[in-house]
Amino acid sequence: MASVEIRNIEKHYGGYHAIKDINLTIDEGEFVVMVGPSGCGKSTLLKSIAGLETVSSGRLSIKGRDVTKLDPGDRGIAMVFQSYALYPHMTVAENMGFGLRMAKRPKAEIDAAVARAAKILRLEEQLEKRPKQLSGGQRQRVAIGRAITRSPDVFLFDEPLSNLDAALRTQMRVELSTLHAKLGSTMIYVTHDQVEAMTMASRIVVLNRGRIEQVGEPLALYNNPANLFVAGFLGAPRMNFVAGKVVEVAGHGARIASAGGLTVAFEGLSGPLAIGDAVTIGIRPEKLRIGDAAADVRFCAEVRLTEYLGRETIVYADAGDLTTTGSDSGTGVFTIQIGENKPFHAGTPITIGFDSRDAYLFNADGWTLTSQKPVART
Ligand code: ADP
Repeated sequence: MASVEIRNIEKHYGGYHAIKDINLTIDEGEFVVMVGPSGCGKSTLLKSIAGLETVSSGRLSIKGRDVTKLDPGDRGIAMVFQSYALYPHMTVAENMGFGLRMAKRPKAEIDAAVARAAKILRLEEQLEKRPKQLSGGQRQRVAIGRAITRSPDVFLFDEPLSNLDAALRTQMRVELSTLHAKLGSTMIYVTHDQVEAMTMASRIVVLNRGRIEQVGEPLALYNNPANLFVAGFLGAPRMNFVAGKVVEVAGHGARIASAGGLTVAFEGLSGPLAIGDAVTIGIRPEKLRIGDAAADVRFCAEVRLTEYLGRETIVYADAGDLTTTGSDSGTGVFTIQIGENKPFHAGTPITIGFDSRDAYLFNADGWTLTSQKPVART
C-alpha cells in the first residue's frame, strides 16, 4: 500500500503561488528526500503533509486514509525540526516521552517506548540530563527519539542536520540511514544539501520554484538528469555548461559547435533538433581530463586556480573564448576534478579533454536529449 499519496497539492500565500500541482506516491518504507534551493517550497510541502500548513487545494492520504483536513496529531506522523524544539525544563526521558504523555498512554508503555528509543539512539546514559547539558548531535538524537516513541506511520524531517558542524553532519547522516534500515519506516526528509539527498535517499524529489523537476533514485538522477536544472543542482562541483548551436543533423545524431571552437558529436538523441537550434552541452568536472591525447574532444586552456583537497584536486581553467555558462566559479572558466593529488600551477597551459559519450545535451527548453546513460548499481 502507498504510505503517502499527494494529489494535485497547491499552496498559495496570498498572491504568491508557493506549491504548484504536486503529485507524488511514496511507498511504505521509502526514504524520500525532497531537495531544492532555498525558497523552492520544500518546507511548505513538508508542513502541508504534517498538517502544520493548510493546502489551498489537492488531497493527501497517509496509509490510504484521507488526512487533508485532519489535525497534525491525527495524521500518524512525527516531525523532527532543524531547531530540535526540545523543552529545556524537561529531562531527555521526559522530552522523548512527551507525545505519549499528551496522548495519555499508560506510564509503563511510555517508559518502554523511551527505553527502546534510547537504546536505538545510544542515549541510555543521557536520560536524566536536560537538553542544555547535551551536545548538538545528542539534542538532535533526542528530537528523533521523541519521534520514534510515537511509532508514527511516517517520519518527517525538516533540515534536521543544518545546525550541526560538518563532521557531526556526516556522522548523523550515517546514523539516520542506519536508523531507517533498523526501523524500516517511511521517512520524508527535506534539505537544501544535495550531499544529504544523494547519500541517504532511496528516492530523491528535486523541487524548483514550487514544482517537481524530477523524481528518482540518486544515481539515476545523477547519471540521467531530466533537465538543466537537475543536472546543475546535483553534483559538486557543478556540471560545466557550454552554449552551442546545432551545425549538422543525421538521424538521431547531431554535431554541436560552440563559440570558442568546441565541437561535439552526439548519437542516440531522444528528441528532435534542427540545424541552427540553440542547445547547451554539459560535462561533469570528473569527466574532464587534463593532457589526455586519447580523448575524443580536446581544447586548450590555462590553469587559473587549483584547490588541493588531499584525495582529489579541483582545477579551474580558462579556455579563452570558450566559456562555460554555469560552472561553480561562475566566471566562465571550466572546473576539472581529478581523483588524485597532482600539482597544477596558475598560468600553466593545459589541454583539457573528454569523451563525447560522457557529455550531455540539452535543448533550448532545458530538456535533456541524452537520457540513456547507464546507471552504475551499487
Ligand atoms: P524552502 O523550504 O524550499 O526554503 P519554503 O517552503 O519555506 O521554501 O517557502 C517557499 C516560498 O513560499 C518562499 O518564497 C517563501 O518566501 C514563501 N512563503 C513561505 N511561508 C510563507 C508565509 N507564511 N507567507 C508568505 N509566503 C511564504
